[in-house]
Amino acid sequence: MTERSIAPPKLNSPDPVDRAFDTVAAQTRHFVARHPRKIAAVISFALAGFGAAAFGIAPLMPDPADLPRRMVTEDVVQHGVASQLEALADHDLQLYRNDLTRSSDTADTLLRRLTVNDPQAAFFLRTDPIGRKVLEGRSGKMVQVRINANGELDELVARYAAPNPEQISTRFTRLRIERTESGLHASLETAPLAAQVRMGSGTVRSSLFAATDEARMPDAMATQLAEVFATDIDFHRELRKGATFSVVYEALTADGEPITWNAAVGRILAAEFVNDGKSYSAIWFKDASGRGAYYGLDGQSKRRPFLASPMEFSRVTSGFAMRVHPIINSWKQHKGVDYSAPSGTPVRAIGDGIVEFAGWQNGYGNVVEIRHSNDRSTVYAHLSHIDVAKGQRIEQGAHIGAVGATGWATGPHLHFEVKVAGVQQDPELLAKASELMGMTTASRLQFAQLSRGFKNQLEVAESVGRSLAYGE
Ligand SMILES: [Zn+2]
Repeated sequence: MTERSIAPPKLNSPDPVDRAFDTVAAQTRHFVARHPRKIAAVISFALAGFGAAAFGIAPLMPDPADLPRRMVTEDVVQHGVASQLEALADHDLQLYRNDLTRSSDTADTLLRRLTVNDPQAAFFLRTDPIGRKVLEGRSGKMVQVRINANGELDELVARYAAPNPEQISTRFTRLRIERTESGLHASLETAPLAAQVRMGSGTVRSSLFAATDEARMPDAMATQLAEVFATDIDFHRELRKGATFSVVYEALTADGEPITWNAAVGRILAAEFVNDGKSYSAIWFKDASGRGAYYGLDGQSKRRPFLASPMEFSRVTSGFAMRVHPIINSWKQHKGVDYSAPSGTPVRAIGDGIVEFAGWQNGYGNVVEIRHSNDRSTVYAHLSHIDVAKGQRIEQGAHIGAVGATGWATGPHLHFEVKVAGVQQDPELLAKASELMGMTTASRLQFAQLSRGFKNQLEVAESVGRSLAYGE
């Protein structure tokens, strides 16, 4: 038994990270040499939580200029695998493994996945009143083990949601099992979650969700990206292969690792999205009144009277997004556009307005028409059901019904129309032509400062992402 720890805890799927580490280090050194100014200006690597394309920066915002700056030091990057292995051989070997618990897990399957070979530990997980909690309740607990060269358990730490619902966004549970002189011993406590600013970047190859997965960013980042840019891009119809994004986001962490049990937490602080050759940016900014909202780098609010898409973007609908045939989808063929989506997918009003019609019409099936300002209206057809009534006042984004196949529809889809003065128009033009909303001049100086900092960070997130992906 030894107290010495010779490998830093690798928090994400340790095997690929271990293998990739030397390459990453070499690329990092190369990157630092090529871009010393950028590195010195903003980036700080958190090597302990080193993922393929997501980097930790600590601590929390608000001012990027206050972020700690740490260079990747030479003694990290100069050791090759061979010399590391030699160093390891001089010590009692200790290994760290990480995984999430699954609902199907038993003590044996969990330990086997973590490469723990220790019947005593399995017995302890089955029988100890505290130890048993690792496999009780909800799955998805983050488990880290430290094992010796024989695969025996030295320590297990499980991190998961706090038991008290009021604490769920401020604290987490830390369950620790340690080997002591008298055998294994378990303890339980709660500890505060920490907010951490992270960066990530990616390229859309098959879907936005696959791209954020690849960048090791939480699911919430894909949906948030789609919401942040909801007035710029119709993510169901306009997202193109090769689209790229860079994101600076806030994540809640437990002992330095982003938590997995609450997808709703974490906010995009700044993002850039390049789609179809056009670049869009967004920054989260609280104005003098303390109200936060997204603005472009130009200071224009991202909020506009109309959203680009009548459906929320989700993992389910994203699968349909890039399979739509552009010609069938042309609005000219039938004065509207069609969105393939599973029956039951929520449909939302793209702008504030009043329900002009809600009911059945030949061909359209269940259909809702909403009247907006300036003689504009929108039509949502083939709905499986309708959630609004004629005369009702509706806010932008409100759910008005769900995708279906009622009326003349060969399969479930949403038929969507935009009318100006009663005449159908290309829906793509509406969101983009809609009025801009700026900010007060009092906030402008502060915003300009903030946006300069974020602009640098996004640039770094993008360059680093690229150099890691392509071995620049
Ligand atoms: Zn249609």
